[in-house]
Amino acid sequence: MRSTDIFLDEQKYIFQTYARFPVLITKGKGMHVTDNEGKEYLDFLSGIAVNALGHCHPAVVNAIRNQTKKLSHTSNLYYTIPQVKLAKKLAALSGLSKSFFCNSGAEANEAAIKLARKYAKENLGPEKFEIITMHGAFHGRTLATLTATPHEKFHKGYEPLPAGFKYVNYNDIEALKKAIDEKTCAVLVEPVQGEGGVLVPSPGYLKELRLLCDEKNILLILDEVQVGMGRTGKMFAFQQEGILPDILTLAKTIGAGLPLGVMMASEKVSKGFVPGSHGSTFGGGSIVCEAGLAVLETIEKKGLLENVSDMGSYLLSELKKLKEKYPSIKEVRGLGLICGIELEIPGKEIVSEMLRRGFLINCTSDKVLRFLPPFIVAKKHIDRLIAALDAVFSEKQQV
Ligand SMILES: *Cc1c(COP(=O)(O)O)cnc(C)c1O
Repeated sequence: MRSTDIFLDEQKYIFQTYARFPVLITKGKGMHVTDNEGKEYLDFLSGIAVNALGHCHPAVVNAIRNQTKKLSHTSNLYYTIPQVKLAKKLAALSGLSKSFFCNSGAEANEAAIKLARKYAKENLGPEKFEIITMHGAFHGRTLATLTATPHEKFHKGYEPLPAGFKYVNYNDIEALKKAIDEKTCAVLVEPVQGEGGVLVPSPGYLKELRLLCDEKNILLILDEVQVGMGRTGKMFAFQQEGILPDILTLAKTIGAGLPLGVMMASEKVSKGFVPGSHGSTFGGGSIVCEAGLAVLETIEKKGLLENVSDMGSYLLSELKKLKEKYPSIKEVRGLGLICGIELEIPGKEIVSEMLRRGFLINCTSDKVLRFLPPFIVAKKHIDRLIAALDAVFSEKQQV
């Protein structure tokens, strides 16, 4: 198969909404993907925080295969075992009691926004509908979630946007305090901003958010679509600070590549939804839920959270050594296996050069190289990544 033919057909037949790298990926196994010419790449991106067990993990492959043979779809008019099993498991792990299943991160956030508004109107006051979100946030591409994402680039051309959103600076409790008024029903926050440039808030931020929301009697919604399910070294990022949100959203990692999104809530807040309040044809299908269960069981059985913490610290410390060597590196930051290098220069060229050398990484917010390796990453993979980065930075410095 010639990649150029595929590139041309892609241009001809697919909406040109993605700026793709000229690589045709045909296979994946563990930490690696392979292109049509047999070249191997070390995957330090995991899709984008999706393939956390690596590619084609046998536990996931078997779960999907077995369920496909049994039952792939019935509507949500009937009960199915995988959906209930996954909800029960998520409740036990998170401390939140109920799950609503959908098909993506944006849909999970859309459900969270709807639930927050409905619950607040009925329980906190009829005038409460406004949701405060953070500058630099990313919550998805549907009209409501893109409005919750305060970025000119995402809004332009789509006006009028839904009303009821207000923005403050991330990691700034005082600004949030000032912004909350009688219309506020909820605050929607990422525990670590991923697309925003791997921004890790100050220690204590989540705790302060929780206290402030309690004090003002508004809901705390955490978007853990990118950093939930173990990425920070805890199963959920909110567990880093021992708090519990009222509403939580998950996607990416939990489906291991299948479309699975989840909106969870406390028992109290979940009562905002009643039969008919919300729904999804595909949401919580048997195959994706079996895949989700396999992901959770594998993370637990293989002790992967410990590996996330260990390898996360190692990756961060190795990246920090590069910062000492190269002035074009402004800052290195991360938590668990979400790490970023903020550059003084645009990062796109470095991503392309790393790709040429056989490494998948990406650049977000123009100047931040982002690393989201699978949880199975080992020291030897990190050493290879660091050596390649070292070579690329060193070459750049000589130009
Ligand atoms: C990726 C992402 C989303 C959107 O998820 P989709 O599955 O692409 O709709 C929402 N929130 C965060 C934090 C994300 O990283």
